[in-house]
Amino acid sequence: MSERASRDVLRDLETSRMSWGEVREILRQEKTPDRFAEYHAALAEATPFGDDVLLRLGEYLYVVREADGTHTVRCGECSHAFGDPRVNWKLSARVRIRRTLEEFMEIYHYEEVCPEPGIAEVREYLCPGCFTLLSVECVPIGYPPVFEFLPDLASVYEDILGQSAPADEDGKWVFEDRTLQAVQKWGTA
Ligand SMILES: [Zn+2]
Repeated sequence: MSERASRDVLRDLETSRMSWGEVREILRQEKTPDRFAEYHAALAEATPFGDDVLLRLGEYLYVVREADGTHTVRCGECSHAFGDPRVNWKLSARVRIRRTLEEFMEIYHYEEVCPEPGIAEVREYLCPGCFTLLSVECVPIGYPPVFEFLPDLASVYEDILGQSAPADEDGKWVFEDRTLQAVQKWGTA
């Protein structure tokens, strides 16, 4: 497969313009050593961020390299910035919560498959900039927002790209979940 054709395939894969049969064929293929470079080129073409896009976190969310060298989670539809990828982006999203049977029935349609009111809730996370639905989770009431993807950027840069890892404010990039630290700052702000 030529580089151009390979990139087109990856772009169609990224933008969900591919049948399950085609996806299955790709999964079975031997991976080429430059697959990440092809993936990155496809992302750069398919998003408004160009070469600054680094990873895809979800259907509409991306990790983007900023001009100052830091990394931010951004919406691919409106570029809204959610902040440090080590902080769960859901803390910065708009949330619609469904808790009653009537609210559940609007999306499940059959009572037999609805979550149990009073036990579980459905949270719909929306982009504050363009109100695109970014993620949905059904969890027990009071459960913390699920952190779906904590990217290890140092490994991406060092092990995959062969480049030095991005610098943090104190010089070294630390791979850790900083969601709790962000929540603790709410109490002191
Ligand atoms: Zn948006």
